Amino acid sequence: VTDERIARIASSIRVIPDFPKPGIMFQDITTLLLDPKAFKDTIDLFVERYRDQNINVIAGIEARGFIFGPPIALAIGAKFVPMRKPKKLPGEVISEEYSLEYGTDKIEMHVGAVRTGERAVIVDDLIATGGTLNAAIRLLERVGVTVVECACVIELAELKGREKLGDKSLFVLVSET
Ligand code: AMP
Repeated sequence: VTDERIARIASSIRVIPDFPKPGIMFQDITTLLLDPKAFKDTIDLFVERYRDQNINVIAGIEARGFIFGPPIALAIGAKFVPMRKPKKLPGEVISEEYSLEYGTDKIEMHVGAVRTGERAVIVDDLIATGGTLNAAIRLLERVGVTVVECACVIELAELKGREKLGDKSLFVLVSET
């Protein structure tokens, strides 16, 4: 059953070459969202993994972690915490920087959104180099949250982002080689 679901999810993801710039094979999950069964199976597979694990926090990475994270949070009875690009959150924030191909970027989280001792799963659509998830892990661990796992729909395995997560566990539905 799992394999059938994974196959449907994998085939519902559209790949657009050279977007947003030459050489990038963009994995477009908007086509997965157009297939209600594939979308539901995606959420169900995460919910089956994280229910009954005492997860208090689903931390979603802007922007596509905001699509997959909230239905998982609702289904397992966890709160949803958005991890946003700089200067988007109105309240007091803490932030973590990470490096890009050129320069750096940052993600931010509201102070007080999570508490020491809470257990979190970080959700995004895709892991490439792992820089974004690595920053999200650091941000949550700085405030005493246990990051149980990172969860993505897609992994670009050749970029070895998994290695950048250290001993942190990564769960993905589709691994692209
Ligand atoms: P990284 O920090 O290198 O792991 O990049 C992951 C972030 O960039 C995720 O939020 C993805 O949505 C986005 N991303 C990176 N590469 C791609 C790609 N080939 N297709 C779609 N999204 C990507």
